[in-house]
Amino acid sequence: MAKVNIGLRGWKFEEKDVFDEDGDLRPLGTMPPETRQRIVRLASTFGEPCQACWLIHGDEEIERCNVARVVYGEPLGEVLVCADHEADFLYWFREEGGREYAGETDLQNAFHDWFADGGRAPEGYGGVDHVDTDPDSLPDAGEHADELPTLEEELEKLDDEDLDELGVDLSDLDV
Ligand SMILES: [Zn+2]
Repeated sequence: MAKVNIGLRGWKFEEKDVFDEDGDLRPLGTMPPETRQRIVRLASTFGEPCQACWLIHGDEEIERCNVARVVYGEPLGEVLVCADHEADFLYWFREEGGREYAGETDLQNAFHDWFADGGRAPEGYGGVDHVDTDPDSLPDAGEHADELPTLEEELEKLDDEDLDELGVDLSDLDV
């Protein structure tokens, strides 16, 4: 069964868990819980700035931050990076001990600390071409990034009560 990216590269979903036979997004309530949580997080992080850019520029220069294109990590502890900073994340994950945070929401803080402390991938580090990954800890990158409008429409149909019932927490949207 095909695995797909939605919105941002990084997290992969079983196509059948997310889309029905017609290619429409399934109602959130019918998705497996972990899938649903990631979908909702994706919707809330879409259009957010790259966190590495943000650490450099901050809210004062938010316009200088690139929009995040890649998501790694776990819901509520995501690392969102632009294409420029993906190499820094991958270098940190592989070479600077980041892997020990795989599967944990601490991944985000740990990466931020390293990056804010001046951590960077060496010049020319191009790890994206040969990602060796455990799909559960470091999803590799694909190319699809065009289904999110559908997702957003679906989410707009839900009111807050529905989300409460689903156990989805949309209140923590800050990077
Ligand atoms: Zn960036």
